[in-house]
Amino acid sequence: MGVIRKTKSVNTILEIFDKNEHAISVVELVDQLSHAMNKTTIYRILERLDQDAVLHSFLGKNGVKWYAKCNNCTSDHHHDVHPHFQCVQCGKTDCMDMDVRMPNTPNRQIESVQVLYTGTCEDCM
Ligand SMILES: [Zn+2]
Ligand SMILES: [Zn+2]
Ligand SMILES: [Zn+2]
Repeated sequence: MGVIRKTKSVNTILEIFDKNEHAISVVELVDQLSHAMNKTTIYRILERLDQDAVLHSFLGKNGVKWYAKCNNCTSDHHHDVHPHFQCVQCGKTDCMDMDVRMPNTPNRQIESVQVLYTGTCEDCM
């Protein structure tokens, strides 16, 4: 856990991620949290949790932003470079426990990569 202050709103958001083993889209988060806080607060907290390496974000289909819990990331640094999978039938999206190989190029320093696999999940097969 990084420098983020554990306010009530932060805890409310973290509780949702503790209860959910899959990634959660911003659309769903705003929907679930609309009674507790406004959209701006939700976006601000998510951004800070991302900076603190508590959560990481990625883009799913149609450019929708998703968040998932980090594994083994130390405060303010992400170590988890992995692909994500989105089911085209039910929309379920999760982290894949696989490494993504970073290419080694002489004149570019590569820091991040985004891989999104789409297909059919075990429930929809
Ligand atoms: Zn991370
Ligand atoms: Zn599915
Ligand atoms: Zn992930």
